[in-house]
Amino acid sequence: MLKAIKILILEDFVSDIFLIERQFKRNKLNYKLKHTDNKTDFEKYLKTFKPDIILSDYNLPDFNGLDALSIVVQHPTYIPFIIVTGALDEETAVACIKAGADDYLTKENLTRLVSAIKSSIDKRDTLIKKEKAEEETKQLAKELQTLIKTVNTPIFGVDKKGEINEWNNATEEITGFTKKSVLEKNFVENFIHEDQKETVNRIITDAIKGSSIINFEILFKTEKRYKKLLLNTTTKRNNFGEVIGVILIGQDITKMADYREELEQKIEERTKKLKTALEKEKELNELKSCFVSMASHEFRTPLSAIGFASGFLKKYGDRIDKEAHDKKLDKINIQVKYLTSMLDDILTIGKADARSKFKPETLKFSDFIKPLLEEVKTVSENSHEIEFLMTNKNFTIDLDPKLGRNIFINLLTNAIKYTPGKKHILFENNIENGSLISKVTDFGIGIPEEELEMVFTPFHRAKNTEAIQGTGLGLAIVKEAVEIHKGTVSVESKKNKGTTFTIKLPLK
Ligand code: ADP
Repeated sequence: MLKAIKILILEDFVSDIFLIERQFKRNKLNYKLKHTDNKTDFEKYLKTFKPDIILSDYNLPDFNGLDALSIVVQHPTYIPFIIVTGALDEETAVACIKAGADDYLTKENLTRLVSAIKSSIDKRDTLIKKEKAEEETKQLAKELQTLIKTVNTPIFGVDKKGEINEWNNATEEITGFTKKSVLEKNFVENFIHEDQKETVNRIITDAIKGSSIINFEILFKTEKRYKKLLLNTTTKRNNFGEVIGVILIGQDITKMADYREELEQKIEERTKKLKTALEKEKELNELKSCFVSMASHEFRTPLSAIGFASGFLKKYGDRIDKEAHDKKLDKINIQVKYLTSMLDDILTIGKADARSKFKPETLKFSDFIKPLLEEVKTVSENSHEIEFLMTNKNFTIDLDPKLGRNIFINLLTNAIKYTPGKKHILFENNIENGSLISKVTDFGIGIPEEELEMVFTPFHRAKNTEAIQGTGLGLAIVKEAVEIHKGTVSVESKKNKGTTFTIKLPLK
């Protein structure tokens, strides 16, 4: 059973009310009724009775239909209002409708009354429903707007021209720019890194055409620096489905990206370290095998010479004269010295802490070098003539005496060793731009061009040295010692013509 329709009648003739009610009953209308003929009660009933519809006479003794209508029109909820009057000219009827009446009827023709009531109430119900729906939509829009504004994700928007029209709190926060300061500015021009402008412009154009993207990494300009943002775009449409711009939703991944970069860097560093360690290990292995092959080769000759000489002495010692005896002992002695110096070299190259033991002293160069020259001459039994040249006689140089000795002894003895038959050796010392330039030149066997680069590598010996004893360690020791002094060493050579080693050592 439908709810009774509450009807308020404004009428001064009771007989007319009776006529109206007859229509209700005839049409089996379910209704409740109140009636009045004055303003006071009318207003009271509006509040207390809360009518669904009002039927009003046009002319009343001290109140009229239009006045009542003007009150009802002001009422917060819509109440249908039908004028029911004795005689109504057309002009008045139009005025009533204009003033907000829903319908009008004459008392002579009330047959239409009930259907007019029903359709007015239907109209009211539809209106209420529509209003409610509109209210709900408005509410929803408001909630959405608040959500966009306050959500913890940067959301911003541009219109079809690419100008900013939305900039939520999170975007303000990560950029440091207020919405007010960015509105209507071109987004790409002002906030995208130079390298990405073209791409992001295309992304926005695509979004306007309806194809969105997800998780595109952009460099977003903020007050202080560029931040990394994962960008998602959505086409923005109005109620009619027309594209009006693009909504951009971001995710600040600056920290994550920084962390990622840091990790990548760490990995790179570790890989490098690992590689170096591996290379060292490889080098060490190579050195080991070089050492083994060198040792087995180079130790054999002096050892067998010693073995031979001592065997000879044991067997024939009492049968030879003192001179021959001493000669054999000298031979043993020379080989022992050679073995010792070879072992010294091996120990030097094997020492990893040469750098930490570096102890330079300020030395007068002539005082330092002359005894070394004498030593070389004695050991080589003056087999060669070393021409010693020094333009500046009195300079001093900061040199570690042990390492310095290694440098010069090795270069000079090599010059002698690899110069069989050619006696002249040139040893020049000059000062240029605060450095000592020492050159040791010989006119011996030379070094094959293709092996020039290799002679400083430990254990490397050029092919043309087979007849000459050696370990391949001397030059490696020279190079290391020179470099510890922040100096350089270089070589020039021509096969069978001769060789020049040049070292440059800073005086200080
Ligand atoms: P070693 O002399 O014990 O073989 P070094 O390290 O002193 O070792 O020299 C390495 C190689 O360089 C030698 O084996 C030789 O091939 C070449 N070399 C060095 N000095 C000279 C030189 N003055 N003349 C020709 N070759 C040389």
